[in-house]
Amino acid sequence: MPKVYLSPPYHYYNRCAVAGCDENLHNNLYLDELEPYLTACGIEFRRGARRTARSNEDGTAMMKQAVRESDAWGADVHYVSHTNAFNGMVRGYRPMIYPGSTRGKKLAQAIIKERKKIYDQPVSLVERSDLYELRIPAAASYYEEHVFHDNKADAQWFHENLRPLAESTARGLCDYFGLKFVDPYAASAPVPESPAPAPDGAAVTLPVLRRGDRSDAVRSAMAVLRDGGWYTLPLAAGDKTFGPEMEAAVKRLQQAKKLTADGIVGKDTWPALLGL
Ligand SMILES: [Zn+2]
Repeated sequence: MPKVYLSPPYHYYNRCAVAGCDENLHNNLYLDELEPYLTACGIEFRRGARRTARSNEDGTAMMKQAVRESDAWGADVHYVSHTNAFNGMVRGYRPMIYPGSTRGKKLAQAIIKERKKIYDQPVSLVERSDLYELRIPAAASYYEEHVFHDNKADAQWFHENLRPLAESTARGLCDYFGLKFVDPYAASAPVPESPAPAPDGAAVTLPVLRRGDRSDAVRSAMAVLRDGGWYTLPLAAGDKTFGPEMEAAVKRLQQAKKLTADGIVGKDTWPALLGL
């Protein structure tokens, strides 16, 4: 199976024109939509850390870690998902590849062809040699700047079209790898794992979670631990198992919040985890 490493932004905070959003958040939402398409199409993937405004780690270190993971795993494509900013007036899609990369160019052609079917703003392919995630990965690297997130119309379009965007990218990747595109939402297709739902706090009865459990709630807790920087391993697709790393992350959170460090997510740990 072809392997694609998904790399979201790791910088601290770039405000999006959509209220309450930022570049890291909406690129991760987009990658959440992309994952089921890749699974359906038979493309294996791994994904870099989900950095949020609450994460404390050094973003540059996280970015370099992602590239190391991508290389160690032997990714065929290193796929970087970002959005652009300028002065709020500009719209457009500006993907980037490393200068002279034949694989990069082929990939760009395949993805841009699909993107133009759904996005009617200017598209320009940019070649850059100064970006770490274009220069260093052993894989063919494709660095998306989907839209300008400081432009209200562009940001809104991005938010309203996460799934069509994901589909267009998956179609482009299938074309690049010579695979047949499979729509995970078509009636006959197997239902993919849905992305982790955001736990919405006090209104929900939250289950007690402990090592060895396997459920959607475990997956959600894992994602929130990641967002808070307590858990630093990549979230593997469909991983819903409460393993030893997750237990260690829960204990770190509990120690920091002065709770009993038993590694069990119960009625005291859930609110600490959700920042309630
Ligand atoms: Zn946004």
